[in-house]
Parts: sequence; structure tokens; C-alpha cells
Amino acid sequence: MRKKLFIPGPVEVHSDILAAMALPMIGHRMKEYAELHGRVTTGLKKLMITDDKVFLATSSAFGVMEGAVRNLVGGRCANFCNGAFSDKWHDVTKRCGKQADAIRFDWGTPVTPEAVDQALSSGKYDSMTMIHNETSTGVMSPLADIAEVMKKYPDVMFIVDTVSSMSAVKIPVAELGIDCCIFGVQKAIALPPGLAVFSASEKALQRAAGIEDRGYYFDFLEFAANDAKNNTPSTPCISLIYALDCQLQRMFAEGLEQRWTRHHELAEYVRGWLVVHGFETFPAAAYLSQTLTCSRNSRGIDLADLKKRLAEAGFAFDDGYGKIKGTTFRIAHMGDMSRADLDELFTAMVTIVPQLA
Ligand SMILES: *Cc1c(COP(=O)(O)O)cnc(C)c1O
Repeated sequence: MRKKLFIPGPVEVHSDILAAMALPMIGHRMKEYAELHGRVTTGLKKLMITDDKVFLATSSAFGVMEGAVRNLVGGRCANFCNGAFSDKWHDVTKRCGKQADAIRFDWGTPVTPEAVDQALSSGKYDSMTMIHNETSTGVMSPLADIAEVMKKYPDVMFIVDTVSSMSAVKIPVAELGIDCCIFGVQKAIALPPGLAVFSASEKALQRAAGIEDRGYYFDFLEFAANDAKNNTPSTPCISLIYALDCQLQRMFAEGLEQRWTRHHELAEYVRGWLVVHGFETFPAAAYLSQTLTCSRNSRGIDLADLKKRLAEAGFAFDDGYGKIKGTTFRIAHMGDMSRADLDELFTAMVTIVPQLA
């Protein structure tokens, strides 16, 4: 049975997008691809609110997260870690042979501007990584306040993962001074997985030029050289780029402001439902994600059983990630989701667990 996805990625994909992916193939060295590439990267700059170069990589997000480390960490990197994905990024940084320190926060809490300032004021670091929206814990860190601190450290590469937030909230990449902003497309952008997008500031490209062992597949300078011809270094996932072209048009038709408002309202709606049904959110109120809600299992329900029975009813439900599996659950409200979609899930939950009603 098909399950409707309420997990935080991959998420439901609109039928228009699936249709766009079925378009006939073109060659990536043909002028048709150059037109598509130019249109998509122009749209992405509008979405990301930047004039920096924006590149298309055929990989999931972690491909570019690894690439960013290989291209931009020259000396030592500060990896800010407040959940499973940021912990993993620290691990990846070290596996790339880079010197790196993890600056850790309790799960459920954000990366703070104070901690960023304290770490970088040591002068030890030439780069930092952080995740704007920690999907494992449902925490959104205060990116604008952190960006303010980063202005004091212009020589430190500011590398930000926005995998589960880009397009759902306003992230003005240029104004925030983000040197490399990375996202995959299967979360907040609501496409099938396999494509990652990243921006690179002028400073980032200069940094990359001075770094050896950038490899080939994620070499930022290869991306820049090819992008100048509206192209990619190697054969891209053209079907997904058709899908992104379609999704960008759908986003601009909805309106970016309207899209941000919709996500804000959906987040409030989910939190409201949880409170009424006796649950508490895992993160503190000030840092709740706008694209997924991570709830404590305050009612002590059997989450594994709920997940199984929701699956039988046609819903994919998430019973927590990593070390908070079973004690928390997550409801995604990203991408193209509407209130009516959430109502379907809530109705099913109450039917399966009558004590919730
Ligand atoms: C899902 C996720 C990733 C990992 O993405 P892949 O596409 O699986 O490589 C990284 N960061 C965040 C915040 C995520 O939610």
C-alpha cells in the first residue's frame, strides 16, 4: 500500500513534479540543457536571495557537505553540533582528513551566537559549519543572530546546511554573509532525492583556489568553470533538474512570502494540536522548527505500535531519530503540505489511539 509521507524527508511530491520528471531526456552538452540550467540557477538565486554563484550537484546533501569541507577548510574547522546531522558533519570533516573540533550543545537546544563568538574568538578556526534546522531534534537555530557574530570573523568560512529549511523560511544568503549555503531537495523543497544545491561566495571560491586535494566530483572550481557555460562538471540528474525548474515556478506562483507564512501557520497548527492532546515539544518554544515538530512522548504511547498501525492505514510516521527514538516523535510540515494533509494524519492518530481523543 502506498504510504503518505509525514516523515521529515523524503516528503510527499506533487503530481506536477512527477510529471515534469517524465519529460524526454536531453543531453547535458546540448543547448536545451544550458537553457534549463540558466533558468534554474537564476530561480535559485531569487529563492536564496543572493547574487553569489549557485551550483547543482548530483548527490544527496551530504555529498556537498563533504565537498564544502574539502574545498573550504584550510586550517581548522569548528563544527557546531546540536543533533544527529551536525554530529555527522563533524565526523565527515575528520574523515576528510581535516583538523576539526566539535562544539557541542545538548540535543533539543540551538547553536547560540554566544558560543559561536566564544569559539571563533580563540583565533583557531578558519571555517565553521552549522545546521540551520536540525531535523533530528526539530530545533531551528537563530541564524540571523549568528550571522551578526560572523561579521566579526570575515576570514572564517561560514558554511550552513539549510536542508530542511530553505524555501520554508526567509534565508537571505547574501545579507547573512553565508559563504556556502547547502541543501538537498527531498525535504523543504519537496522533490524526490538525488540533487543538492549550494552557493559559493567570492571569498569561498578564493579559499578553494588555495586548497589542494579538493578532489574532482565536488571541486567548487570545476563547478564555477562549468557554470560559466550553464553546465555542470559531470552528467547531472537532468530529470530532477526538470523537477526543480517546475518546483521553482510553483514556489514563485505561490509567492515566497506566502510560502513562509504557510509554513509558519502549519507549524503553529501542529503545535496547537499537540498541546491540546497533552504533548510537549522537545525543543524550547523559542527554537521550534518551522518545518517539522519534534514532540516528547508525553502521553507515553507505544510509538512503535502507532507507527506500525499508521503504516497499515497508509501513513508513514516517524518515531524519533537516533538516541531520542521512542521518547520523541516527529511530524513534518514542509514542502507542499497543507492543513488538510495534517488533519488526515491527526484523524488517523486519534482513531488508532482512542486515549488521545
Ligand atoms: C536529511 C538531512 C541531511 C542529510 O541529507 P542527505 O540528503 O541524506 O545527504 C543533512 N542535513 C539535514 C539538516 C538533514 O535534514
